[in-house]
Amino acid sequence: MHPGPLHYPHPAPPTAGALLEIAPGVRWLRLALPWSLDHINLWLLDDEAGACLIDTGLGDAESRAVLSNTLADAGRPLTRILATHYHPDHLGNAEWLSQQHHAPVWMSTGEFLLAHALYHALGPYSVDAMLAHFRVHGLDASRLGKLAARGNVYRRGVPSLPQHHHRLADQDVIRINAHAWRCIVGQGHSPEHIALYCAELGILISGDMLLPRITTNVAVPAATPCDDAVGRFLDSIDRFADLPADTLVLPAHGLPFIGLHARIGQLHAHHTERAATMRQALAKPCSAADLLETLFRRELDPHQTMFAMSEAIAHLNHLWQSGGAHRIEDADGLIRFQANADPA
Ligand SMILES: [Zn+2]
Repeated sequence: MHPGPLHYPHPAPPTAGALLEIAPGVRWLRLALPWSLDHINLWLLDDEAGACLIDTGLGDAESRAVLSNTLADAGRPLTRILATHYHPDHLGNAEWLSQQHHAPVWMSTGEFLLAHALYHALGPYSVDAMLAHFRVHGLDASRLGKLAARGNVYRRGVPSLPQHHHRLADQDVIRINAHAWRCIVGQGHSPEHIALYCAELGILISGDMLLPRITTNVAVPAATPCDDAVGRFLDSIDRFADLPADTLVLPAHGLPFIGLHARIGQLHAHHTERAATMRQALAKPCSAADLLETLFRRELDPHQTMFAMSEAIAHLNHLWQSGGAHRIEDADGLIRFQANADPA
């Protein structure tokens, strides 16, 4: 196992509803999540005439009550709301806050479009398309039925969506309270995730792209079934490698940490290990569903099954596209993979 070379300068997270200043003009707040993920970190940055909120929490009543109180205590109106990516725990309250504070939502266009496609269940972004995608990757009728019964879960986590956005793109530099923050796009977890780096403060707001303890979910959705999301994710985290070693990383889940180079190394090692485990399992042809037990080693509820299937397909596509396995599609459309023999 890896020794743990990460340093956590703020080991005690803020209590529910509290704001904890962790750098001049940078405050940390936490909202609860009803999943094993437990919580999400939000960051409130002093802005010229108020404050800029980075990420917004799940769009449920509990999060909204906490946000209302905390933002009232903060004593600064929101000037803008920035979402790192489309996931419900990040975008859930963006529109609601935007209305309350008359503040614009800033995000990338890739994430904005995907949010709208999922909310409206358009074509390849519908629940039916997801079920068809998982069916060809071997998921059985019983588990597909449980996923179908959940309906459009995206819409429950994000009850309303912004109708406009202030567009952020890779390498854009935005000024917040006279500090320059550079946008760094990441892929593999979501299409156009925005992380923000401020050289003056020595801070990287990493969103879900660099987390201290858990490994970021990598996902292959129905609309891009052959995507090498793992390859994209690994290339994306390497884009943080030229940041200074003493950068304080503010992740969306877990504690702020110093040690981004060590963490990038651990994540590469983790994915190399995964590839080796999968090559062993793929001595005979296996579908993504066949590999769920090997990869996740625990009972999966329908919510976890959705992430696990998407991630298993991502790992298989990566192994296939990096030459470690080949893809077999049978007459019924079932897709399986088998390890290639080691080159002599
Ligand atoms: Zn996410």
